[in-house]
Amino acid sequence: MPSRDAKPGAPLNRASPSPVSSHAVTPPRSPACPGLLRIVPARDGGICRIKLPGGVLCAAQAHAIADASTRHASGVAELTNRANLQLRGVRSGHEAALSAALIGAGLGPAAANDPHTTDPTALTYADDIRNVMISPAAGRDPHALIDTTPLCAELLTLLQSDARFAALSPKFALLLDGGERLARVDHPHDVWLAASADEEGVRFVFGLAGCPDSTGENANAGDHRDANGTGALAAVPPSRVPALVRALLHTFLGLAPADATRMRDLLATHAADALLQHAQRFVDFPLARDASLRHWQRHLPADASLRLGAHAQRGDGTWHVGGQPPLGRLDAATLNGLAALAQQHGNGMLHATPWQSVLLPDIATNAVPAVLAKLSALGLACDPAQAITHLIACAGSAGCAKGLADTKTDALQLAERLPAGIDVHLTGCPRSCAAAHRAPYTLLAAAPGRYDLYRRDDERPGFGQCVAPQLTIDEAAALLARLARSTPHA
Ligand code: SF4
Repeated sequence: MPSRDAKPGAPLNRASPSPVSSHAVTPPRSPACPGLLRIVPARDGGICRIKLPGGVLCAAQAHAIADASTRHASGVAELTNRANLQLRGVRSGHEAALSAALIGAGLGPAAANDPHTTDPTALTYADDIRNVMISPAAGRDPHALIDTTPLCAELLTLLQSDARFAALSPKFALLLDGGERLARVDHPHDVWLAASADEEGVRFVFGLAGCPDSTGENANAGDHRDANGTGALAAVPPSRVPALVRALLHTFLGLAPADATRMRDLLATHAADALLQHAQRFVDFPLARDASLRHWQRHLPADASLRLGAHAQRGDGTWHVGGQPPLGRLDAATLNGLAALAQQHGNGMLHATPWQSVLLPDIATNAVPAVLAKLSALGLACDPAQAITHLIACAGSAGCAKGLADTKTDALQLAERLPAGIDVHLTGCPRSCAAAHRAPYTLLAAAPGRYDLYRRDDERPGFGQCVAPQLTIDEAAALLARLARSTPHA
């Protein structure tokens, strides 16, 4: 098998910059993965994905995206399940102008600001690997054990500053969990790190190809949560996280065959202990499995409902206020309205969440009612009792040639008929683009307006057990209501 191994070199404890250059590794790349400079054609036009560091964008960037979306695309920005944004309907011939406008707004990789980096391929790869997920309430969540925002910035710098990491797949992703209550910990990540506290202070427990174990929502995620995952392997203090990640990335690139794109692929042929042994070459601290972490769990369950409405932040009497645009779609007017709201009442920043919603931090107590009212006026749902906050849908047949049904339109119809509190994922085909996790209920398109209904079942892989085929939306709504009544915690 072709090897991508390299000499480990001197152990490092921090990111060691070596600017991305035209000499960066040029890996095989799926042309189907959109980026800022790789605009991928779809049925409804091009797709341009904008990676948001830590899920955050400033008001000026939101205005720039709104403007670019109307000039060069369909005028709609979609929030993604990795807390990024993507523009659909990019018009033919507008691709370069769109990328330039977004880079001009500071939304590109770090190398885009370096006049010496002119190779578009190097920029595309540097953009691809900016995949570090943190809580949208990082640094503000009262339950967090540590503020992950500085470490997130350090990891993003690390990913972009070693030319070898350009060989990572655009889907290769890291999770940095600070122990927040508002946290998405049910998406499998290639490397996950989760804060844990004991008498010695905070350490980051880490594992590969899975999720931090949780006593909450994650406990029901079954095989999809951790299909080939290692569970908790060991723990390091925060200061060693960048060196650890660097070692794990070099280990992946060194041991994985060229066609293996994800950590789970490598774990199919290598034991976790062998990976740690290999990673040991790159660090100057001991790295081995810690058997005492075998039953490690997060210190508290995550609560996704905290993304909606107003919730107190840590310490200073301010609030975060969040709302969910229907199915994660923001038109230009709404995006401009959110930016103006953040400038008027918040700190001028918008936080995208991996539930395809938006959160405005640092709102004063007396401004909370006005912000909630404005979010509602902009069409965002701020109450988890609203059924639409429990529905996700992929692009479906309106935007994707693989879609067998118009999932977005059908999801809106379903929201009008569904009781609150039932989490449903509508997908146009089995690829499941809208959900990195496994939803309690999945409607898999079988034909226009017809779906097979699956219920999550930890004994079965994929979407779970098929409980009814070929349902209309009305039939699905009625059956889902019955199933939810009979199994309220499904
Ligand atoms: S899940 Fe299938 S139909 Fe939906 S966007 Fe992905 S590929 Fe297209």
